Amino acid sequence: MADRIRLYTAEGIVLRRQPVGEADALVTLLSPTHGRFTAVARGVRKPASRTRGHVEPLTHGRYLFARGRTFDVLTQAETLRTFPRLERSLLRQAAALYTADLAAGLAAEQEPAPELFGLLVSVLAALDAGAGLLAVRYFELRATAEAGYAMHLGSCVRCGSALPPEPAFFAPSAGGLLCSGCRSDGVPGTMLEVRVIKLLRYGLAQPLERFLALRVDEATAEQAARALRAWVCHLLEREPVSARYLDEICALEARTRPAEAVYHS
Ligand SMILES: [Zn+2]
Repeated sequence: MADRIRLYTAEGIVLRRQPVGEADALVTLLSPTHGRFTAVARGVRKPASRTRGHVEPLTHGRYLFARGRTFDVLTQAETLRTFPRLERSLLRQAAALYTADLAAGLAAEQEPAPELFGLLVSVLAALDAGAGLLAVRYFELRATAEAGYAMHLGSCVRCGSALPPEPAFFAPSAGGLLCSGCRSDGVPGTMLEVRVIKLLRYGLAQPLERFLALRVDEATAEQAARALRAWVCHLLEREPVSARYLDEICALEARTRPAEAVYHS
């Protein structure tokens, strides 16, 4: 009976793995039932470890844990799914690691997160199948919304007045778009073109497949990317290291491929 209380299983995606001690690692997972949590995997950095391959970042697995004093202990692991084709593209791999990092930053600890988990799985699957950076934009939009911070794009976030079909000011600190009357000088933010606002609204309302089927021009994609980055940094109160790494890889890719190919499949 005691064992049944001490042990529990959880499905999850490994968001990150940090080495600790001689051969152990702290594994942070996103689980539909347990939200974000961190467990210790003992001896997992030894070459002979049987668990090693199941706790690589971005592995979707089923895990058995024993309750511990500081961290629960990962005792058994079984891989349910990997995203093997991500390794073929530095860009998609960097994009996938960024989405995992963002999930870690947005998910509440030990609170069920079935929607965020489902979103992460579907975006990783899309990247694995060859989707471009539009999949990342979708994740930024929807993961922040799942965390309770949907960008307010339908009307002025401050006074609620309808916005005319013209460029509007996006202020992350206000939570969305501001009408010209509510926009005060000095509020940090950026003007968004109508087609960018439409793209973001579409992403908040539509399933992933329909968003990925859009053809988006480079200027629109860039402006949407900057707005979403500002939004993410505002919510996390920092710029994730993985976001800067993704930027560097994008800059490298842009030298060898048309921007079109970076955003789309
Ligand atoms: Zn207003």
